Amino acid sequence: MPAGLYIVATPIGNLGDLSPRAARVLAGAALIAAEDTRVTAKLLAHIGARVAMLPYHDHSDDGVRAQLIARALAEPVALVSDAGTPLISDPGYKLVRDARAAGVTIVTLPGPCAAVAALTLAGLPTDRFLFAGFLPAKAGARRNDLAELAGVRATLVFYESGPRLATSLAAMAEMLGDRPAAVTREISKLYEEAVTGSLTELAARYVEAAPRGEIVVVVAPPEAPPPAGPEALDAALRGALARLSVKAAVAEVSATLGLPRQAVYARALALKDGDAAP
Ligand code: SAM
Repeated sequence: MPAGLYIVATPIGNLGDLSPRAARVLAGAALIAAEDTRVTAKLLAHIGARVAMLPYHDHSDDGVRAQLIARALAEPVALVSDAGTPLISDPGYKLVRDARAAGVTIVTLPGPCAAVAALTLAGLPTDRFLFAGFLPAKAGARRNDLAELAGVRATLVFYESGPRLATSLAAMAEMLGDRPAAVTREISKLYEEAVTGSLTELAARYVEAAPRGEIVVVVAPPEAPPPAGPEALDAALRGALARLSVKAAVAEVSATLGLPRQAVYARALALKDGDAAP
């Protein structure tokens, strides 16, 4: 195998999800940088490979990163996390950044990722989504993060733990509105499930008993605002025309209200000529 840094996705519960290519690269690596070497040792035993390992986290000191980069310039080095895709709420970003800067060849082996798997189970729109990782544990910081996400016109994906699930769902309902959502759990394992409902319904369900296992929460995007009516258009246009040229006012208002430029232009001319119906 050529020298380089190989980013290897590993199963999130079902060992059958390890791809043949991932197994080949892990077995052929000269060194594996692992989040927890005991966890990765089990995976290596499963494929019957014995490979040297080095613990790696993004907070590992610069010396460890430098050592891995020096090795990856000369031989194949693999990066794995405990489960799923490295760098996704897992270590690796700083290593890839520095390895790229040092001229290391970087190869990715795509595979399991709980966020993407949850999206496939939830039955919510997938054309635009925002991966929000873990919400902060402290209530204030959690509310701030959710307030920032409230206006995002995309499906939201959160990683969660059982004990915090009900509190997080209640905070989401409060800050995002009572949107449709799905709680996906134990993906690819024996008790895989996806429970759907509104955020309030789900919060009530899980306050009774915290679920076991690993969890991803998927939340629907906010509903599209209704198209602006004639009064809103006139008010926006009057404000804009007082400050701007007709052309600039039309551009601003059609962008803010999401209305076709030609319709806004016609109304702007009518208002300017003073012949607009009230
Ligand atoms: N890098 C991983 C990935 O690609 O999904 C994620 C690592 S992150 C530290 C671990 C979190 O991912 C868990 O707390 C849980 O929210 C989610 N997760 C991992 N495996 C899961 C599974 N089998 N089912 C549901 N969620 C899972």
